[in-house]
Amino acid sequence: GEFLARIKALNPDLNAFITMDEEKSLDQARTADEMIATGQSTLLTGIPIAQKDIFCANGWLTTCGSKMLSNFISPYDATVVKQFDQVGMVNLGKTNMDEFAMGSSNETSYYGPVKNPWDRLAVPGGSSGGSACAVAARLAPAATGTDTGGSIRQPAALCGISGIKPTYGLVSRYGMIAFASSLDQAGPMARSAEDLALLLNVMVGFDERDSTSLQREKEDYTQDLEKPVSGLRIGLPKEFFAEGMSSDVSSAVEAALAEYRKLGATFVEVSLPNSKLAVPVYYVLAPAEASSNLSRFDGVRYGHRAAQYANLEDLYAKTRAEGFGDEVKRRILIGTYVLSHGYYDAYYLQAQKLRRLIAEDFKKAFEQCDLIMGPTSPTVAFNIGERCNDPIQMYLSDIYTSAASLAGLPGMSIPVGFGSKNRPVGLHIIGNYFREAQMLNAAHRYQ
Ligand code: GLN
Repeated sequence: GEFLARIKALNPDLNAFITMDEEKSLDQARTADEMIATGQSTLLTGIPIAQKDIFCANGWLTTCGSKMLSNFISPYDATVVKQFDQVGMVNLGKTNMDEFAMGSSNETSYYGPVKNPWDRLAVPGGSSGGSACAVAARLAPAATGTDTGGSIRQPAALCGISGIKPTYGLVSRYGMIAFASSLDQAGPMARSAEDLALLLNVMVGFDERDSTSLQREKEDYTQDLEKPVSGLRIGLPKEFFAEGMSSDVSSAVEAALAEYRKLGATFVEVSLPNSKLAVPVYYVLAPAEASSNLSRFDGVRYGHRAAQYANLEDLYAKTRAEGFGDEVKRRILIGTYVLSHGYYDAYYLQAQKLRRLIAEDFKKAFEQCDLIMGPTSPTVAFNIGERCNDPIQMYLSDIYTSAASLAGLPGMSIPVGFGSKNRPVGLHIIGNYFREAQMLNAAHRYQ
């Protein structure tokens, strides 16, 4: 009730939620009460959570931030939604996001931009900007996000909260609207590493309905939280500390690293020579996959349909022209271009090869260290409108996050203070495959 009241008061300005349904939320709260009364509760029973609007939730409007799905009521639950339902968490509503998760500022949403609660002139980051804003503004204690090239970590950094993208394949993609399937991964966003560990315990698990879901033994992510970090070897990639990072971000990150030194961690310089190609590689591969995934939105099966059309071809064309925003159209054009005959070898295939080299760099680096640290975003939150007409500048928001994504590695962001204009700064922690517990431990010891 308290959170619903806060959402009612603050959401009209912040715009963090696209959809709320008080009846549904209160219904779930009653179910949670019953679970508690009958001794079926877990630590999370009755705790509210906000769901990014990329997750299908039975009976809920599920828009993915797009006009294309502005009338789509999902007939089923995403696995992630079901997992939280089963432990008795209460869905507070669906959070705003960049259209089809394409963006770094939440400005590509059909439902309008989200404001950064620390400074309402600033963007919250994206694409999980609504979730980051909801947690930062205390509209929800926890939220889900998805991260393809940085969409959990970058908004977490810009809003001063914690977020983790797990190893690719740990969390089911079933019912999560696809952007770039080989990169998409869901994860939790919350105030602390401890909260993330509890949420991750619910989200991680094999799902036969996701073909890339991994079958592994269950792990308790809270188990190592309190471990001392003395002796932890932190790798600092020299490429991440070169040009590009603004000085306010750099001082906050340096101060955080000094804390780790005090806690007994040691530092080693590592090199990720191919990481400078991560942004261009990402912006070939992600649009290529997106152009294929988004072909399903044709006005026939579900979603928006043009009102008037001459024939089937015209129905497709008009529906897609009306239903998709500019950024989505730009990605589809790039994607179909790099996949087309005559360009495939020069772009798509080349990018695939570079993707492997980027992953090999990490493999070598992890022979020398346990975790890699650096900035999450090169700058603090920028102003709403500032980068709208400059896609390249916008794409560079992912300069530190996209490399780990291409390698399928887990990455997280934790708040480490404030930069210029008192806007939050995030520390980026990259772990080796399946080292989420170790990352959460390092984050928890700092917090
Ligand atoms: N900002 C990146 C993009 O626009 C990443 C988005 C994401 O991770 N979903 O593609």
